[in-house]
Parts: sequence; C-alpha cells; structure tokens
Amino acid sequence: MLFLITAGPTREPIDPVRFLSNRSSGKMGYAIAQSALEAGHEVVLVSGPVAIAPPAGARVIQVITSDEMAEAVQSQIHSADVLVMCAAVADFKPAHYSLHKIKKQNAICNIELVPTRDILATIERPSRQMVIAGFAAETESLSENALKKLREKKCDLIIGNDVSRMDAGLESDDNELVLFFRNGETLVLPRESKLLLGRKLIKILEQIAERN
Ligand code: C5P
Repeated sequence: MLFLITAGPTREPIDPVRFLSNRSSGKMGYAIAQSALEAGHEVVLVSGPVAIAPPAGARVIQVITSDEMAEAVQSQIHSADVLVMCAAVADFKPAHYSLHKIKKQNAICNIELVPTRDILATIERPSRQMVIAGFAAETESLSENALKKLREKKCDLIIGNDVSRMDAGLESDDNELVLFFRNGETLVLPRESKLLLGRKLIKILEQIAERN
C-alpha cells in the first residue's frame, strides 16, 4: 500500500526572520514512516522543518508552511491508500507578512492571527476507499477532544496523546497513545519508544484497510 504521512511542525512566517511554530520534533511521524517501510509499504513523507534524517526509502516532500503542507498532501492523496496526518500543523498564522524585518522600535505588541486551513477537514478526498488517521495532541480532556476530531474531521482513527507530560509526547523518543476508532472502540498503547508504537500503528492501519 502507499502510505502518505505528514510529520513535524509547520512554520508560519511573520517577517523574513521570525515565525510562529510549535515543539513538534517529527519523531512520531518519522517512526510511523520507518515502520511502514519495514512492513514493505511505499511511503510519501510530507515533512515540516525538523532536525532528524528521514528513513531511507521514503519519498520526502519538504514543506515549511501549513499552506505548503496542504498543497503537498492534496497533490499526493489520490495515489495514497492510507493518510496519516501526524504533523502538528499550526492552527493560526499571521494575517500579514512583513517583507522587511519588523523593527523593535515600532513596538509591535500584537500580531493579528487568522486560522490556517484545516488540511484533514477540508482535503478533497478520492472517491475510492482509503484509510484516514489523524492525531490529537491535547493537554486536557483528551477523549472528549479526540472523539470530536474523529467526527468532525471524518477519520477512521484518531490517535490521541497527552502532550502535557514531560516524559512522553512532544520532542521525546517515547510516547503513550490512546486510539479512538469509528466504531466507538478505544485502545491504549502504553508508553514505549515511538518506533515500537509506529510498528503497532502500522499493523492497526493495515487491519482497518483490510476491513474497508
Ligand atoms: O490541531 P488539531 O488538534 O485540530 O489537529 C488534529 C489533527 O488535524 C492532526 O492530525 C493534524 O495533523 C490535523 N490538522 C490539519 N490541519 C490543520 C490543523 C490540524 O490537518 N490546520
């Protein structure tokens, strides 16, 4: 199967030297990509700016902004069998980009923000069956928020993680995941390395694809 996987953060530029971003390291998305390759699948990895090397064998599309990520995912979705939106796409971007570095003397204290395009919710999907998995990184009410995303973003699976913990999640080599399926089932994958979790996720995504 062809896995289209997004990973890492996006950067939303304010001026030529500044941007809004988040702490995503790309480790979870890259581990899923590596696990898919190990299992014999093809992988297209749409990656925001990260400091780690992509797994050998993945076709990598490097992007910076959420708009670029949306365009890359849209351009690849029609050949994909599975989409895993692991990227921590920025939810907001500056309303205006300054062509010149904003001077501190101008004492800008407020940056007007506008919502980014929600890729998962608005992507034009192929008419044939494909498996779609999203992530929910939350600091509170994980299951309530994940179930809302499962419904609103029309996913087969939402993979929830609690990002308020210091020993797992963002930037860490480990994670602990709670999976929310469309049939109402949930599954906890206890804390372990992102690579081991990636391998378990690939098996689960393969099972969903078989059932579809
Ligand atoms: O930011 P949020 O918690 O809504 O993200 C949940 C899921 O939606 C993730 O899979 C993320 O990759 C995706 N997302 C997206 N486009 C955005 C924001 C999030 O596709 N603008």
